[in-house]
Amino acid sequence: MTPDERREQIAHNLAAVRERIAAACAAVGRPPGSVTLIAVTKTYPASDVVHLAHLGVRDVGENRDQEAAPKAAAVAASLAGGPLPVWHFVGQLQRNKCRSVVTYADVVHSVDSVRLARALATAAADGRDRPLEALVQVSLDGDLDRGGAAIASGDPDRSLERVAAEIAASPSLRLAGVMAVAPLSADPAAAFGVLAEVAERLRKDHPAATIVSAGMSGDLEEAIAHGATHVRIGSALLGNRPPLR
Ligand SMILES: *Cc1c(COP(=O)(O)O)cnc(C)c1O
Repeated sequence: MTPDERREQIAHNLAAVRERIAAACAAVGRPPGSVTLIAVTKTYPASDVVHLAHLGVRDVGENRDQEAAPKAAAVAASLAGGPLPVWHFVGQLQRNKCRSVVTYADVVHSVDSVRLARALATAAADGRDRPLEALVQVSLDGDLDRGGAAIASGDPDRSLERVAAEIAASPSLRLAGVMAVAPLSADPAAAFGVLAEVAERLRKDHPAATIVSAGMSGDLEEAIAHGATHVRIGSALLGNRPPLR
């Protein structure tokens, strides 16, 4: 495929995704501009991020530092002079990767322990000149091994409220909201309903935490119906990824 053909293909997919978002918003009486599309570009090359930027997609998401760090640098070189993407880190984050991630990410969606929040705060204080936006990832099925902080906590390190409080108390971080991935087994609509309640409760203590990051290629409609402000779309924009190794 030539670069022009690839750009055409992405433009076509983008139009379809934008239509799905608009229809989902219309169905529940929300303005279409109330949902931000994050293009999840994992496994796809920097050239696709550049195509997306030229097509007006400003927000991009990545889930592995090893892949995201060089990609962000390559995109910055290609787009030199123009506006750069806003990079969202959406994958499970190891504490030893925080120092790298804070140098290119604008928003980290996957803060799910007090220890991770502390490591991120220290890295952001040393490695950035403005606060890093941080979302608390919420576990909607209670399986903390899949990521996310617990709504009803046993382990204080993984308690949603404590993670949120730790972020809010860190000057180098800004608590911007919540993120979740729908559980594999349960009904996504019910799960996103729970996330909406959690988000509302969090805003009582932290009124600026307005982001609800939920919805992927397969369930963006359910997420938007339950108040998602940011949807994270990979395969519907860029194609099916090869299976994970
Ligand atoms: C890969 C990924 C997405 C995008 O998933 P698609 O089904 O390809 O749209 C969204 N969120 C996270 C956390 C991801 O890892």
